[in-house]
Amino acid sequence: MSRLPLTRVYISLKNLDHNLSLLRELAGGRPLWPAIKADAYGHGARIVASHLVSRGVDTFGVAQVQEALELAENGIDARFIILSPDLGDTAQEIAAHGFEPVVATDIQLRALSREALRQGRDIRVHLKFDTGMGRVGFCPREADTVLARIAGYPGLKIAGFMSHFPRADEGDPEYSLEQLGRFRDLVEKTADFRDFETHMANSAAIFDVSGACFDACRPGIALYGLKPSSEIRNPRVDELKPVLSWKTAITQLKEVSPGTGLSYGHSYITSRQSLIATVPVGYGDGLARALSNRIEMLVGGRRCRQVGTICMDQCLIDVSPLRGRVEEGDEVVIIGAQADQFIGAGEQAEVLGTINYEIVTRISGRVPRLAE
Ligand code: PLP
Repeated sequence: MSRLPLTRVYISLKNLDHNLSLLRELAGGRPLWPAIKADAYGHGARIVASHLVSRGVDTFGVAQVQEALELAENGIDARFIILSPDLGDTAQEIAAHGFEPVVATDIQLRALSREALRQGRDIRVHLKFDTGMGRVGFCPREADTVLARIAGYPGLKIAGFMSHFPRADEGDPEYSLEQLGRFRDLVEKTADFRDFETHMANSAAIFDVSGACFDACRPGIALYGLKPSSEIRNPRVDELKPVLSWKTAITQLKEVSPGTGLSYGHSYITSRQSLIATVPVGYGDGLARALSNRIEMLVGGRRCRQVGTICMDQCLIDVSPLRGRVEEGDEVVIIGAQADQFIGAGEQAEVLGTINYEIVTRISGRVPRLAE
């Protein structure tokens, strides 16, 4: 008997390979440093990273030192760039494991330098410049003084200059091009003595911001086969293939009479004799309760309405149209394909007024991720 819960995420390595090749081509063969933070956007960082390493990827972006540690301890032999600056409190692990933090403040630089000296190991840092994200980063105008300050912190070596696009996924490229200009000026100013790498492009920029690729690119969402937004202009975005499928199975089928209230609060009351399927997926798995009565799932190759309030561990589907053709144990697709039907993460995102990134990232840790 399988010990795995019935609700599972499947990761298509074939589609991951396809997206990797497409992005490599669009990036003109430059190295890709995939963003695999937040458990590879919910896809399972170990599965994704180990496969990408086998395809020649040698550098990854994670948000936290803890994420890099977990991967390194599980045998992922790669360089980890820690994308979210902290207060320098992880300096000990950074130095010990050779992780490369993104730095944006003196508090970090001080802590990292102290630890590099204590361990007798250089720490390679990526200087983040805020060219228009309005989040962490040194001001590009201060580049000279930042470089002078870094020189005063022994044990730190500059591994990279980086920046990040906040609006590359918008149809109008004007803002991103201005931003690109600011980063390019910075890069050109340091060209004479530069022995570090420059990187700026996320997925949207790889598709739509020409000249944004510099020495390496940091794609996340597109590698997982999801569009950064609906406004990407480059038609090749349609070539992306979703990597993640989210599936479960029917645990009970029940005929109910017209006027039957379903699930907590009876937020759905049947208007006719109905065949209702229970499936073991709920908000504890990352299926938002706010989706209750507002989404469809695939059963028997057709779209069926989810009905009643989504509970922590279970929810209900009206499978009346499949009467006589559906059984307990049948597959249910929450995100993914079945027969000729497909439900993308974007459908849930639209209902919730959010982005596909959040939908896949919120699939909880108790859902097993399986490579296929
Ligand atoms: N680089 C940084 C610094 C990021 O924070 C992210 C994700 O938010 C990425 C790259 C990847 O972005 P995307 O998933 O849009 O490609």
